[in-house]
Amino acid sequence: MSRIRLLPETLANQIAAGEVVQRPASVVKELLENAIDAGARHVKLIVKDGGKGLIQVIDDGHGMDETDARMCFERHATSKIQSTGDLFRIQTKGFRGEALASIAAVAHVELRTRTGEMELGTLVRVEGGKFVGQEPVSTSQGTSIAVKNLFFNVPARRKFLKSAQVEMRHIIDEFQRVAIPHHGIGFTLIHNGHEVYRLTPTNPMQRIAHIFGRKMPQRLVPVKEQTDYIKIHGYAGKPEFAKQRRGEQFFFVNNRYFKSSYLHSAVMQAYEGLLPEKRIPPYFLFFEIDPEHIDVNIHPTKTEIKFDDEYTVYNLLRASVRHALGKFDQMPSIDFDITPGLIPRAKPSSGQNVREPKIQVDPHFNPFRDDRPQHPFPGQISTPASVSEPPSPIDFPSLTEDIPAAPPGTTVFQWKNKYLITRMPEGLMIVHQHRAHKSILYHQFLDQLARSGIHTQELLFPESRDYMPAELDLLEKHRDILHQTGIRYHIQDQSLHLTSVPAGVEPGAVLAFMDELLAHWSDDIPIQGDELHRFLAHKLAAKAAIRTGHQMSPAEQQQLLAQLFRLPEPKYEPSGKMNFIILPVEDIDKQFE
Ligand code: ADP
Ligand code: MG
Repeated sequence: MSRIRLLPETLANQIAAGEVVQRPASVVKELLENAIDAGARHVKLIVKDGGKGLIQVIDDGHGMDETDARMCFERHATSKIQSTGDLFRIQTKGFRGEALASIAAVAHVELRTRTGEMELGTLVRVEGGKFVGQEPVSTSQGTSIAVKNLFFNVPARRKFLKSAQVEMRHIIDEFQRVAIPHHGIGFTLIHNGHEVYRLTPTNPMQRIAHIFGRKMPQRLVPVKEQTDYIKIHGYAGKPEFAKQRRGEQFFFVNNRYFKSSYLHSAVMQAYEGLLPEKRIPPYFLFFEIDPEHIDVNIHPTKTEIKFDDEYTVYNLLRASVRHALGKFDQMPSIDFDITPGLIPRAKPSSGQNVREPKIQVDPHFNPFRDDRPQHPFPGQISTPASVSEPPSPIDFPSLTEDIPAAPPGTTVFQWKNKYLITRMPEGLMIVHQHRAHKSILYHQFLDQLARSGIHTQELLFPESRDYMPAELDLLEKHRDILHQTGIRYHIQDQSLHLTSVPAGVEPGAVLAFMDELLAHWSDDIPIQGDELHRFLAHKLAAKAAIRTGHQMSPAEQQQLLAQLFRLPEPKYEPSGKMNFIILPVEDIDKQFE
């Protein structure tokens, strides 16, 4: 006797519902998407008790006629595709024709809808997949779908719903994912009678600002890149606004939100060296691509997307975000009090593209009229020498590399042996001396590592240090790597004897650097190649950089700034912290109002 039976339709729909409808937020997503597919200009979402009480979506789209109002609850009922070929040309959010059938299978649903041509609309009620009734109703053009008692007939699911607050959080996530790319459509969200969002139709940036706050736009830089295959546009967060938690990262393909840990890693790579550990920047990135090149049908809720050439997308994305970050990060121009002929040129290191610092020259500067402030601070008498003293030999590590001198005459002063302060057209610039020097050294070391290794300086008197046997083993094992950083040693009587150090770096700093490496190596972090170089350069720079508390000569101060602003990204140190801030002149003016 045959055992196989066809499932009754309601049961089949309930099973399908398990995939599409996981929680109230899934219902919200499907209903909002249907409203957009219907060409709505305004969409209103009304929620009670995190969706456990009510989810209602009201739109002013094209509506449905009497037949469709009933048909739409059938499984595989869709107006959006007709043939297999259509599957590869999808422009709408939906196409599987199972959302309404699935929702109706596990809830009480009331649909009111009217097309532009009809005078009267249609009301249809479905409960647990069963048709309950249909009648003419007077209603405005468009569609309203109210979903109540979600999972009333699937107690196991109902029991697993989280608190109204948690479910509401998920609903807001879905709402944002739909509202961000559809900035031309107005959206309202009301929860328990309170208006959570009222988003009027606007441009992409304003939409983001309306959702995430007025401050968001100034935290973002525009991203834009285009090839024949794909267009990428949107915004990426400036590194200093990266947060420790996720939640402001969005990818959209053809205005459909999707998740991709693969592409997320492309973005994170673009930020490499700019972010403190475990920080994630906000981003809103839109891909536009011929639907033929993507498959949205690999997941029932369509939040995973397959590109036919993922590798290209990955590379283009990483490059475009990196480019966007580099562009915005160009140094704001420094207000050096000098004439163009006096600007010294950096000696480009061989085979490297060195970006010239942008120096703004005051066109009204008159060398015969010296109106520079002679007394920058009350009580402090500045002799002319302190302003125009020629650079003297530098006596702190490695600042002499490659750089002939800083522009003479730049007014810089050191404050609290910690900050260097100078003026710019935009305001006062305050540079963190330790971080700035760390960034300079980082780039120098990285550059040297890429060529022949860090320059070595022999010690007249070897420094000795005791280590534990396990540590000595590690130091033995990683001798070659340390060799590249200019560090040489031998091991004797359970001690390490340091014979050479990287040029200009104090032995004490070298030992601190080695301690740090030992801590890492005991976790056995397998890094190699460029990544290893960045790691070594970063750690060594951190230990070798001048410290807070170090008093700098005027020449050192000028040189530090000159070198800093020749870096590709002067604003951030390798771990992503700020090297300097600018106090805008308007803010200063305001204090005097
Ligand atoms: P899909 O969106 O995949 O087509 P759904 O189950 O979500 O499947 O919807 C089924 C059909 O019902 C849609 O194809 C559409 O024709 C109709 N429909 C659903 N919601 C709306 C709406 N808000 N306005 C107009 N028509 C709608
Ligand atoms: Mg749909």
